[in-house]
Amino acid sequence: MEIKFSGKRALVTGAGKGIGRATALALVHGGAEVVAVTRTQDDLDSLVKECPAIQPVCVDLSDWDATAKALKSIGPVDLLVNNAACAILQPFLEVTPEAFDKAFNVNVKAALHVAQIVARGMKARGSGGSIVNVSSQASQSALKDHTVYCATKSALDMLTKVMALELGPDQIRVNSINPTVVMTDMGRIGWSNPEKAKAMTSRIPMGRFAEVEDVVNSILFLLSDKSAMTNGVILPVDGGFLAC
Ligand code: NAP
Repeated sequence: MEIKFSGKRALVTGAGKGIGRATALALVHGGAEVVAVTRTQDDLDSLVKECPAIQPVCVDLSDWDATAKALKSIGPVDLLVNNAACAILQPFLEVTPEAFDKAFNVNVKAALHVAQIVARGMKARGSGGSIVNVSSQASQSALKDHTVYCATKSALDMLTKVMALELGPDQIRVNSINPTVVMTDMGRIGWSNPEKAKAMTSRIPMGRFAEVEDVVNSILFLLSDKSAMTNGVILPVDGGFLAC
């Protein structure tokens, strides 16, 4: 099954590294025009060097007003991947208000805000569209020291469902993908320790972490017309972790 995005315009947040970067590049490969949004200019410079067709936007998505300004003239967008997130690990009794606010601002509030901006345009044009929110297995399974991260991803799952409900009539589909651990920079924060990693892989029926490509392929499927009647799903990409 080949998925093509010719004639489509896509916006990917957190496109500087990891899953977001690979998604942006895969979308260009599939024929889409891509707007890559992230907050580190060096990452955008190297991304544009690697793929000059990409349109870079540098903004800290935790800043609501700066985001509105940066995306004001972004033009029509058919496909949105809300991928940017941060993972700050703290034991429950040590969670700080700063970590809580930062994580909710990026992982939930910014996803809502960027989706509002994009979906308003989709609705006005009557063109429909597809939005994928990048969540996590941590939205549905408690992970030690992940209090705030788990809570943000649960919130994102419900955001996905309500967006699917309200935007469906305008033929805008909204789905989430919920990966297990992927060894990106973020994955390494929680899972570099071999003992911790082994404890996690032993709970994944397929016995391994996900590769970036596993996650990107599921994102591309949900963005594409191959999932034209799929709306409001929470799709694990977890080798069966959440089934147990
Ligand atoms: P990553 O390698 O850390 O990349 C995250 C990207 O988001 C970076 O480019 C980062 O930029 C950007 N970003 C973070 N905060 C931002 C902000 N305030 N404004 C703009 N950009 C911001 O992470 P990843 O592993 O690819 O994760 C991608 C998504 O997958 C996230 O939603 C994550 O929660 C989810 N996920 C990851 C795993 C995993 O194990 N890796 C598992 C399940 C779900 P900077 O580097 O400049 O901050």
